[in-house]
Amino acid sequence: MSSRQHAMTRRRFCLCCAAATTVAARGGWLSPSQAYAEARTLVDLIRDDAAKAPIKVHKLRSDVCILEGSGGNIAMLAGTDGKVFIDGGITATKRRILEAANSLSPDPIKHLINTHWHFDHTDGNEWLHGEGAAIVAHENTRKHLLAAQRVEDWNFNFPPSPPAAIPAEVISAEKTLMLNRTTLRLKPYGPAHTDGDISVSFAEADILHTGDTFWNGIYPFIDYSTGGSIGGMIKAAESNVAAVGNNTIVIPGHGQPVSNKAELSAYRDMLVAIHENVTRLKQQGRSIEETVAARPTAAFDAKWGQFVITPEFFTRLVYHGA
Ligand SMILES: [Zn+2]
Repeated sequence: MSSRQHAMTRRRFCLCCAAATTVAARGGWLSPSQAYAEARTLVDLIRDDAAKAPIKVHKLRSDVCILEGSGGNIAMLAGTDGKVFIDGGITATKRRILEAANSLSPDPIKHLINTHWHFDHTDGNEWLHGEGAAIVAHENTRKHLLAAQRVEDWNFNFPPSPPAAIPAEVISAEKTLMLNRTTLRLKPYGPAHTDGDISVSFAEADILHTGDTFWNGIYPFIDYSTGGSIGGMIKAAESNVAAVGNNTIVIPGHGQPVSNKAELSAYRDMLVAIHENVTRLKQQGRSIEETVAARPTAAFDAKWGQFVITPEFFTRLVYHGA
């Protein structure tokens, strides 16, 4: 698939990206009521589109696979303890997710781990819980799902999640689960993309799901409204690079879903270089508009700027935390 087709396909499922496109297309910020009206439509659009979306299965190893096409990349571990989902995707894809999951094994869905609170990773929580999944997440993820959230850079207000979507078990430090003869390590990053990001590793299979601390080959969103920052994103990228070996399969939150240490390292290097460029301009006293005009991402745009977090939008996100 060409990168353009890839962008078009993925755009339909990712709220942050769709909202970013709206902002970029308008060339400015909307009034809160305009933004709300527009974003409501976007959520409906994304849900309608997701209902028609194909789910692509990537089989990895040791009964772990990726389900691609429902918001963030979903990982699934099958086995007699019941299926374990890492992230829940978007509700409208329920039927296709179930079809894909049932085609891989007959085990019921028993566990769901959320990498963070964002809509495109937790919208499916309610139906997955209805299937029998116990939900685990960082304590800040639970906090954000319990209350209405305004995400400034999406210009969007999210309502509280329904009770069935709320994680019953929360963590604030590393936790190990033994399920399906697999050691699952849940590890908080500290504030990075949000303030509730965790990684999930499958120890024996040597697979790491990074949540949205890693967007493979595309500029990432950073959610300052709930504790994210460029500095936190760089720290998380450093810890991801340190945590993996040359044989590790790395699953990013977004972007081509089967990744590795080399791509993770290139992503870390991109974040560090752009942060340095933007920091230098900000320290020279340049305004955000002057910094955008100076194109501090130019050397990276051909590779990383082809998705819907545009070079301009990413520059603004970095400037905010530089
Ligand atoms: Zn996210």
